[in-house]
Amino acid sequence: MIESARKVLITTHIRPDGDAIGSMTALKGIIEDLSERKGQERQVQLLLLSNPSENYMFLFAEKPWIWGSDILSEQPIDDLLEPFDLIIVVDTSAVRQLPGISEYLVERTKNAEQTGKNVLVIDHHLTGDAIGNCLLVDPGVCAAGEIVFDLSGHLLKRGEPLKTDVAGALLTAIGTDTGWFRFENSTARAFEIAGELIRAGVKADELYQKLYQNFPPERLMLLNLTLETLELQYDGRLAVMQITKAILEKSRAKRSYIENIVNEPQQIGTVIAVVLLVEQEDGTTRVSLRSKNTIDVNAVARKFGGGGHARAAGLTLKADLAEARKRVVQAMGESLP
Ligand code: AMP
Ligand code: MN
Ligand code: MN
Repeated sequence: MIESARKVLITTHIRPDGDAIGSMTALKGIIEDLSERKGQERQVQLLLLSNPSENYMFLFAEKPWIWGSDILSEQPIDDLLEPFDLIIVVDTSAVRQLPGISEYLVERTKNAEQTGKNVLVIDHHLTGDAIGNCLLVDPGVCAAGEIVFDLSGHLLKRGEPLKTDVAGALLTAIGTDTGWFRFENSTARAFEIAGELIRAGVKADELYQKLYQNFPPERLMLLNLTLETLELQYDGRLAVMQITKAILEKSRAKRSYIENIVNEPQQIGTVIAVVLLVEQEDGTTRVSLRSKNTIDVNAVARKFGGGGHARAAGLTLKADLAEARKRVVQAMGESLP
């Protein structure tokens, strides 16, 4: 599909994380490398559904399309997407994580056989919807970036090293989704790929600094105020924190700085699971769930229409923060051993 396509669009889930952005930018680089080697003309366009956190901006060689934030949003999304003969969705296939474009993608998937307009999904989540007439989905890999890495071996000539910027994007994908090689998905294969990427010229320490040590002080103020809300429940096994609009205002932090704060309570020995509730502008509540082991937080998230992985999942509830807190904390409590 990639070899025969001439206009390729790559997109990913809303609130894109390091795996989402690393995988899409790496794939763009790999496909452009392929075109160059074969002397083919190919356009590769990136589409984001919300603004990325600025610590990921260095990964974009050129400005991506950002749906909802500029002129693009004034034309129907179908008109924008139809000219592409291949659409690749990375790091999700959940309708709820693709707001605005999911209807088009589902419809396009249904008709792909007749129209030849393909939808390729590259994902590693346990759950997904009817998006993609070609699926490269493996919940056993550490990140979508692992699949992109494997794909690069098929598209490009084996044995030749990846370009350093592509390797950096892939280490971003794998490094961020494994919590910099701390979580359960830090497999031998994850370390092996990381080794290859470092051999391709990536400086892991410099990459880490760009990703995790390049925030303004507001990020720490947000962390500080969020930690003040920490409550331990069920004999200290469940940690609950919340970020209200007031906390966001007081810290002057951007919403994108919330990423990774959910992991902090796992420092406590008794804690086996964490709930972080975030008050949204529209009155809904966004919830992140994490667990060290034993609890399947994906199963809990699914009860509320969300999803993710066994150790990291998310959901959005059409309820205010207090109501959402009551319901999710109870469901988490029931899942504790
Ligand atoms: P988050 O807590 O937002 O960092 O999400 C944790 C993991 O669950 C990530 O891999 C997300 O892509 C996934 N996830 C979050 N929300 C949803 C959802 N509504 N449906 C499916 N997967 C989700
Ligand atoms: Mn992701
Ligand atoms: Mn991922």
